[in-house]
Amino acid sequence: MLLYIFYGLYTSIAAHINQWLPQKILKRRAEKKVIKTIHRAYREVPFYKKKYDEAGVDINGIKTLDDLKKLPLLTKDEVRDNFPEGIVARGTNIDHCHYSATTGSTGRSLPFVFSHKTHIFYIITNFRVYTMIGYRPWHKSVYVKYTDSKVKRFGPFFRTGHVLSILPVKEQIEKIKQEKPDILIGYASLILEIARTVTPEDLKVIRPKRISVNSELSTKDQRDYISSVFKCPVYDEYSTEETWMIASQCKEHNYHIFIDNVWVEFLDENGKEARPGEPGEIVLTTMNSPVMPFIRYHIKDLGRYSDKKCRCGRGFPVLEAFDGRRDDSFILPSGKFVSSLKILNTFTMYIKKYLHLMEEFKVVQEKKGLIVIYLVKGKEYKKERFQELIDQLTRIFGEPVKIEVKIVKSIPDPGRVKRKAIESKVKR
Ligand SMILES: [Zn+2]
Repeated sequence: MLLYIFYGLYTSIAAHINQWLPQKILKRRAEKKVIKTIHRAYREVPFYKKKYDEAGVDINGIKTLDDLKKLPLLTKDEVRDNFPEGIVARGTNIDHCHYSATTGSTGRSLPFVFSHKTHIFYIITNFRVYTMIGYRPWHKSVYVKYTDSKVKRFGPFFRTGHVLSILPVKEQIEKIKQEKPDILIGYASLILEIARTVTPEDLKVIRPKRISVNSELSTKDQRDYISSVFKCPVYDEYSTEETWMIASQCKEHNYHIFIDNVWVEFLDENGKEARPGEPGEIVLTTMNSPVMPFIRYHIKDLGRYSDKKCRCGRGFPVLEAFDGRRDDSFILPSGKFVSSLKILNTFTMYIKKYLHLMEEFKVVQEKKGLIVIYLVKGKEYKKERFQELIDQLTRIFGEPVKIEVKIVKSIPDPGRVKRKAIESKVKR
């Protein structure tokens, strides 16, 4: 325990210094860590050894970041199919790891683990994201999420509150009023939904000094709208649950890529490095999770990097924009807006509650009053369990909407654009 505390303190200081180092030094360090990660994975993770041997990779020839292109990409299906035996490092006791699963936005669950040491590093990178935009340890942070986070408070420091994402929006607003956040943190579409619903009376009580939105693409217009409602700046953050922090905006509203956590490649259609300002497929390599490293992980998000320097002085490279994800919220017959993520989180909750309830799903709003769920049943599918999920959705909608369930064998993949689990065909 004491060791973890020392490690946490040391890592906090290092992580905070890192952001101000010159980009050259950060890149050199990243290169060392990435190459070390690859060689270690080849030795310790059976999946990578097999994959690279089959692809004819000369592992001793992987010495620089330029050599990364010699390695085949890692897909989400490979992670799923090889978890845990293949893709977790040999000798790892999974019971001693932090275990989680994500549905991403594609509707297929993806399990992963990382060590407690890695988890500490990840939490510290979270705090770095918030301190970048002015958060201080004595501020109250309130998260709109589908789970409680486990950060401990120390007296007046690190005070946090939680608002469950799957609650109806009016209940969320009541909870936020009780919590009185200095910083409000949550999924972009959920905060947008809250911003569209709060009344001037609510806003007399809810007065955050800053808002951080995450986990899905939000447009600048949406963030500006949230900012105009709450009368405070809104910053965006980009991460995945399995690789953790990728990039986030500083006070200048530029995205900085955290190359002390993850190496990011932007690839064009031919798999070559995209030019600055050109959209490329984002490919990630984690460097702090030897228990389950993600190497050249193809997440099917699109983004553009920039060779510009930011006025804030941070050395982390700048990411110009994301292009891959967009808001697929539902608009109900009354005009009520329901965030796509609220629906996605409901599925995630039931996937966590009933393992193997479903293999895959897709939810399509065909018309304002009609929602169709395409479902690939899991090996422990039970109709009454799935009905619980539908009842929860009905509660969220809060008005008559027909929900149809269609059992299918598989859900087609549309290719280059990231497949979405939640989609609306209703024109706005
Ligand atoms: Zn900056």
